[in-house]
Amino acid sequence: MKNLDALVRPNINDLKPYSSARDEFSGSASVYLDANENPYNDPFNRYPDPMQWELKKRVSEIKGVDAENIFLGNGSDEAIDLLFRAFCEPKVDNILTIAPTYGMYQVCADINNTPVKKVSLNDDFSLDAAKVLAACDDNTKIVFLCSPNNPSGNLLASKEVAEILSRFEGLVVVDEAYIDFCPVASWLPNLKDYPNLVVLQTFSKAWGMAAIRLGMAFASQEIISVLNKIKYPYNINILTQQVAQELLSDTENMQGWVEILLSEREKMVGELEEIAMVEKIYPSDANFLLVKIRKAKEVYDALVGKGIIVRDRSRVELCADSLRITVGTPEENKVLLEELKAMS
Ligand SMILES: *Cc1c(COP(=O)(O)O)cnc(C)c1O
Repeated sequence: MKNLDALVRPNINDLKPYSSARDEFSGSASVYLDANENPYNDPFNRYPDPMQWELKKRVSEIKGVDAENIFLGNGSDEAIDLLFRAFCEPKVDNILTIAPTYGMYQVCADINNTPVKKVSLNDDFSLDAAKVLAACDDNTKIVFLCSPNNPSGNLLASKEVAEILSRFEGLVVVDEAYIDFCPVASWLPNLKDYPNLVVLQTFSKAWGMAAIRLGMAFASQEIISVLNKIKYPYNINILTQQVAQELLSDTENMQGWVEILLSEREKMVGELEEIAMVEKIYPSDANFLLVKIRKAKEVYDALVGKGIIVRDRSRVELCADSLRITVGTPEENKVLLEELKAMS
């Protein structure tokens, strides 16, 4: 990896961050007259902890990563955007993504005026590290890998990811939004081995908290400090911090949901295989299935007509005629399968 100072944009290296009232005094006191808050309407009158230490302590216990190596964002999408703003000089630097993959990397790149190099996955959606490394140049700052990948659903082979981590000189972001569906495959235990590794996770999927907007980035203290330096001072509001604490007190609930969803996914695979217009069901390590189906667009529209919404991914690279179907409750899945059988 290059020296971190050489990777960070010069203006960010030079930046003197905003110092909030809660940054300048963070102990406990009895009279707070430092932040121009209204003294009435407790507890919503006070600005929240800008660094969310209580919540990070809990996340640290659950994930086995020190609080100093954790960044919390307004969804993991915030961390993605901040990575661009910290590391990619507009029109000068570039990033690399695999294809197909999660659409937000491209959108954030476009917003930040950063060119994107795309490297296609193999036909079975597997990753070729040599192709990725060959496509990088001196101005490539970040390689985005998504594992399990969205929309294909598969984990990327750890040997290929490790090769990119050891040979690429910029940051490697491994987006693990779906890792709770296959926790042993996480890269979190390898953070200490790779100073250029950034792992993204979220509470939006397996944890069932998409509405409160809370995502995580895990990396070296140096990288986390850069993100903290440029984030909005109070990026995680108090409602989110409180609800997250409550819901994170019980991890068994989440594990129970994951068990149900994984067993439902396998049941759906079995039933989809029996449907004639289904041509291929790609193996999934996540809570969704990518399904190649004859006349996918017509099937999609017909499902909409029945009030059932799946995601048409037909225009996405390597996904011609493919629908991405999220695993729902047993009742929801049954309704979908019955409609598909009726159309076949
Ligand atoms: C859903 C998803 C996210 C989610 O992000 P949040 O902003 O945390 O809700 C991130 N990455 C991938 C690949 C996703 O599919």
